[in-house]
Amino acid sequence: MAPDPRFAVLFEPLRIGPVTAPNRFFQVPHCNGMGWRDPAMLAAMRAVKAEGGWGVVCTEEVEIHPSSDITPYVELRLWDERDLPALARVCDAIHAHGALAGIELCHNGLDAPNHWSREVPLAPSSLPVIAGIPPLQAAAMDRRDLADFRRWHRTAVRRALTAGFDLVYVYAGHGLSLLEHFLSRRFNARCDAYGGSLENRARLLVEVLEETRALCAGRAAVAVRLALREDLGTGSLEPAEVRELVSLLADRPDLFDFCLAGWDADSQSSRFAAEGFQEEALRGLRRLTPKPVVGVGRYTTPDAMLRIVQSGLVDFVGAARPSIADPFLPVKIREGRFEDIRECIGCNICVSGDFTVSPIRCTQNSSMGEEGRRGWHPERIRPKAREARVLVIGAGPAGLEAALWLGRRGYEVALAEARREAGGRVAREARLPGLAAWMRVRDWRLAQIRKLPQVALYLDSPLTAADALEFGAEAVMVATGARWRTDGIGRFHTSPLPLDPALLVLGPDALMDGNLPEAGPVVIYDDDHYYLGGVLAERLRLAGFTVHLVTPEPLVSAWTRLTLEQARIQRRLLELGVELHTSEAVVAGFADAVELACVFTGRRRSLACRALVPVTARAPEDRLYRDLLAAGAGRRDHPIGTLRLVGDARAPATIAHAVYAGRRAAEELHAPEPRRLVRALPRALPRRRGTGARPVGIGG
Ligand code: ADP
Ligand code: SF4
Repeated sequence: MAPDPRFAVLFEPLRIGPVTAPNRFFQVPHCNGMGWRDPAMLAAMRAVKAEGGWGVVCTEEVEIHPSSDITPYVELRLWDERDLPALARVCDAIHAHGALAGIELCHNGLDAPNHWSREVPLAPSSLPVIAGIPPLQAAAMDRRDLADFRRWHRTAVRRALTAGFDLVYVYAGHGLSLLEHFLSRRFNARCDAYGGSLENRARLLVEVLEETRALCAGRAAVAVRLALREDLGTGSLEPAEVRELVSLLADRPDLFDFCLAGWDADSQSSRFAAEGFQEEALRGLRRLTPKPVVGVGRYTTPDAMLRIVQSGLVDFVGAARPSIADPFLPVKIREGRFEDIRECIGCNICVSGDFTVSPIRCTQNSSMGEEGRRGWHPERIRPKAREARVLVIGAGPAGLEAALWLGRRGYEVALAEARREAGGRVAREARLPGLAAWMRVRDWRLAQIRKLPQVALYLDSPLTAADALEFGAEAVMVATGARWRTDGIGRFHTSPLPLDPALLVLGPDALMDGNLPEAGPVVIYDDDHYYLGGVLAERLRLAGFTVHLVTPEPLVSAWTRLTLEQARIQRRLLELGVELHTSEAVVAGFADAVELACVFTGRRRSLACRALVPVTARAPEDRLYRDLLAAGAGRRDHPIGTLRLVGDARAPATIAHAVYAGRRAAEELHAPEPRRLVRALPRALPRRRGTGARPVGIGG
């Protein structure tokens, strides 16, 4: 099908050195928490990207040597020949759908603690290892180390070619790679030919680049991934230096891929950065090189993609998160199905998979990470097993997702929602400062559901068990959500706090429904540690209240370290003037104060306030489910043969969990038996490539 003429330029094939990309949609390298441990799952995930129309699909970073071991995190590895089957499998899966396969070779330098390999960490200068703040320092690389590194990189390039990759990265980005550590004055204090002037600091990069080019000659293109700017502290790479560097490298690589450093600057959440947030840093760079340029900026709208290509800012539209949220984004643009694009909401739950060393997940795309092990697809689902009417109760993220995929399976679905608007928690949270993009979770699902005549949405319909029994559905999915507790029970206190009834206690739900206290100061007691405590503090501060945020953790919104947001949240709250009280818990509430206790010493003190907002834990709204269960629903001989509690109503968690639970309920209706989770490691190298796989070990 010919693309919509307005967007035709995005579908033009484009040369990258000796290879040709079928279009300008470029899935840049991104981590996924699967890596060398789950290569079959990883291959399935990348294959779906290629199937969805991404012209170039890259791996995540690939450790080239045991001295680049970032255990406990799992990326890909190319330590020796035994890693080839996994790499070849990923490469073949991408090729199967006509995309170019890129590999991001990487040595992590100062960022590699080498916990597993016990190799000595390597860096330009003798400095402490960054990742995980271990009590380790890297060795300043001597001439022999430099020669070794170059040899390892050459070997990795040869192996990448053997695996069949079309595009080989020389990685100097994100503040995570040895080559960037050499480039940056922050990490490079050498006095030899590899330190000092920019030309000297770039020497190793140039040497590695030229060697990579020589090896790839004619067989694969060579990309350089560079940080546009470093936001890493004193001595960081300046934009002017980057421009000088691009001019210096000029036509040596076949492609420039630009990012920001560190990773938290590059992958900023929508709470802190809008679509296209890297454009200013990108401006003017393309003119410095005759080679094509790829840039990112969480682009989800076709018009913005067109603009950055037509204005000459980039040649390729780079994407990690937009391709995770919608692997079929290019196909949808080509077919003019713009309203079907499942836009990334910029929540960075995908990133948390990497930090928790677990397979990637996505708030918007319930199939992400499940393509291989559960066989889920972002666009398709197997048809219904037989005719049945399904009642879904609650139109929050879980209920919407369940209704959508049940409808896509062909079932007749009634979706009942108590409130006048759908969306559940998302509808309320998206109205808080910085979270507007989250409404996409609701809006995309509603738009898709509207296309399905077999799904009917009933708003303003609070159902009871009697209503559900009377409705006459064969299957009932209860997705009634959860409400924030107001008694202080959470992680720190597992029994209710002693609270004087004279103290105004406002739960997050009441606040989000618009009930503000009459006067401050307000104490937010955050024992939840994700975003809500911090966002509510921001909301109240912007409304003019004096706000104290109390948390038993040493950092505010501590879990958001896993979504790369923590430092920005703490900075924003401090700049807004929110008083932060860390490593303390609220232990009692009085008419005009709360009592705090230090979590280490137990030392107590009083903090004056007029209102307390506990953000601690949620209570599942499962009454309806329990009533149905008591009435016999869910038994094989009952008219409601299937009864399922889904999402927060079963176990309160993230929005991503609720969406996943909704998809799972739809997938598993009338399924013979739930699919077992298997970890399939490739047992053998594809025949053309040689011998069988053995466990990964330390290689040369
Ligand atoms: P989840 O994240 O699991 O989807 P939410 O709390 O976001 O949970 O959404 C649950 C939705 O269920 C809310 O919109 C709520 O109004 C709705 N709901 C709760 N109880 C009922 C009920 N008895 N009948 C219909 N809808 C209900
Ligand atoms: Fe976007 Fe969130 Fe999905 Fe990541 S998890 S791709 S940030 S919607």
